[in-house]
Amino acid sequence: MEITRVLVVTAHPDDVDFGAAGTIAQFVDKGVEVTYLLVTSGDAGGNEREVDGAGMAELRRAEQAEAAKAVGVTDVRFLSGYRDGRVEPTIELRRDIARVIRQVRPELVITSTPERNYQFIGPGHPDHRAVGGATLDAVYPDARNPYAYAELADLEAWTVGEVWLLGGTSPNHFVDITDTIDRKITALTAHASQVGHREGFEEFVRERWSGIALKAGLGEGRYAEAFQVVPTA
Ligand SMILES: [Zn+2]
Repeated sequence: MEITRVLVVTAHPDDVDFGAAGTIAQFVDKGVEVTYLLVTSGDAGGNEREVDGAGMAELRRAEQAEAAKAVGVTDVRFLSGYRDGRVEPTIELRRDIARVIRQVRPELVITSTPERNYQFIGPGHPDHRAVGGATLDAVYPDARNPYAYAELADLEAWTVGEVWLLGGTSPNHFVDITDTIDRKITALTAHASQVGHREGFEEFVRERWSGIALKAGLGEGRYAEAFQVVPTA
């Protein structure tokens, strides 16, 4: 499958950067068009924050735009009406994601796993599971079924070829990101409201993603991101 357009659907600012920024940088370098779709603006995030939820949402939208720029992505979209910490995989959310799938027409969609991860608590955030589930449902059947939503009738149906899930317990695809780990770190540190207080954050990132490379059999001194590929064509 030739990949010319990628759509990443996540719940919060920073999810794509933890999960896939190194891989995204490589797609951009190859001339692939990448769109980020965020369901919330992360209004419940932050650490010792001095702003309210609306202020935090504004700050985090700006941080995500800066992080995207670090890996060459300029098309960053936010849905409105969904609150950080309260996302549910509703018909409305499926429709809103299906709309963007039909607009962008990506061969590949990257999103969170809808499964609970019992090895790490972070990937199983309820918003991540809700967004992952709604996105898979938007990929199949909603975006490809021209009769799924009357309000989307003016957008041509679109069949996504593959979905790559983030944070799953059984990854089956590893991307060597050794040449883009520095840009991943730049993207992650752009989320200053989330990671600015974490001492040794860069070391943590290097350790975590070199551990994934070792697991993938890439050897010492390499970095990798992990995905579970779901064929959806
Ligand atoms: Zn998140």
